Amino acid sequence: MDFGLTDEQRLLRDTVRDFARQEVAPVAEELDREKAFPYDIVAKLGALGLMGIPFPEEYGGGGADTLSYALAVEELARVDSSVCITMAAHTSLGTMPIHLWGTDEQKNDWLPDLCAGRRLAAFGLTEPEAGSDAGATRTRAALDDGEWVIDGAKQFITNAGTDISGCVTITALTGAEEQGASTTARLGSASQGPREISNLIVPNGTPGYEPGEPYRKMGWNASDTRPLSFEDCRVPESNLLGRRGEGFKQFLHILDGGRIGVAAMAVGLAQGALDEAISYAKERRAFGKPIAKFQAIQAKVADISAQLEAARLLVYRAALEKDAGQSFTLTAAQAKLITGRLAVRACEEAVQIHGGYGYIEEYPVCRFYRDAKILTIGEGTDEVQQMVIAGQLGL
Ligand SMILES: Cc1cc2nc3c(=O)[nH]c(=O)nc-3n(C[C@H](O)[C@H](O)[C@H](O)COP(=O)(O)OP(=O)(O)OC[C@H]3O[C@@H](n4cnc5c(N)ncnc54)[C@H](O)[C@@H]3O)c2cc1C
Repeated sequence: MDFGLTDEQRLLRDTVRDFARQEVAPVAEELDREKAFPYDIVAKLGALGLMGIPFPEEYGGGGADTLSYALAVEELARVDSSVCITMAAHTSLGTMPIHLWGTDEQKNDWLPDLCAGRRLAAFGLTEPEAGSDAGATRTRAALDDGEWVIDGAKQFITNAGTDISGCVTITALTGAEEQGASTTARLGSASQGPREISNLIVPNGTPGYEPGEPYRKMGWNASDTRPLSFEDCRVPESNLLGRRGEGFKQFLHILDGGRIGVAAMAVGLAQGALDEAISYAKERRAFGKPIAKFQAIQAKVADISAQLEAARLLVYRAALEKDAGQSFTLTAAQAKLITGRLAVRACEEAVQIHGGYGYIEEYPVCRFYRDAKILTIGEGTDEVQQMVIAGQLGL
């Protein structure tokens, strides 16, 4: 099924597929084992134009549509989720807010280096006390003599602490403190919360801004995830991103788009697990024949393959809706919910088909299994997707 891809989309997909097989697959296990950030691969992705796929060509981006971006994400995740989330978080969480709401000066300052992959961008929304209820942010920013003075903490932030991290866009309370209804109740409606939240760009190296030590994680081991702290951290007033007080609406929009990327990751990971399971089942023999000949194995492969095709179509539909300027909140949340669960299940079945070897790290499905679980948590948990979907359906 080619979904009517254009020549450009097919070319991009095939380019990323070749790159992932030739450059990423041979080192993925080692990067994961060593928990080593993939600097060389990021540089090569940048050189190929894959660190800025949806951004304007005048800033060095690819000028491509969301479906193209989803295809690229899918092909990377098929081989390695750590490399994939580094590219995807950089693109749809880190760079996108600057592209969407940056002033000409902010875009000129940041986009060329970010699109080229010379610098990485991060998005700091989650806090120790504000995860699913992201509007409950406690990080504050107050204006003082032409500068924002930031105090607070962020939790679980991707791409903020590498040697090439350039900046993080954070949400912060810039006005009234009063607590309204829980923001989770409004997640589907993209309405402004009762508290004044704004987005600010904080460059790495700003005094008072400290990325903490990387977490020890279940998966995504070669990607960079850290807590961030801000203490009397001063950035110019002009580092405000978009209009003051629109941070809540902005981050809901960013999460909507990011969900298409994470859903594409889940499709890619499930496809990678299926690829490995099929090829192993043809090789491995038991009871005098390849295990692929047993109906129980065939049923697992058939089920996953059918669900995967359905899930892939949903992700592409969300991407097409976004590109057509239509509302895509519902489809993106449905795609994220379905694909995350499918990735977990596909990886579990792939491990099962590998028997004991699936539990051994030399086999990619072992890493895939560990990498899958975050897909039901990050970018909004399954329960949050259910709330968004229910909200969109008028409940
Ligand atoms: C590896 C990794 C990378 C990440 N990268 C980033 C990043 O780059 N930037 C960023 O900002 N964040 C990032 N995150 C954070 C991620 O988005 C959050 O972990 C996620 O949104 C869940 O928030 P929480 O962990 O605080 O869980 P909580 O919100 O505390 O949720 C705990 C449980 O309660 C459930 N729950 C909460 N509220 C409700 C409700 N109203 N109804 C039903 N159930 C509910 C949740 O679904 C979940 O099961 C990352 C996380 C990880 C682990």
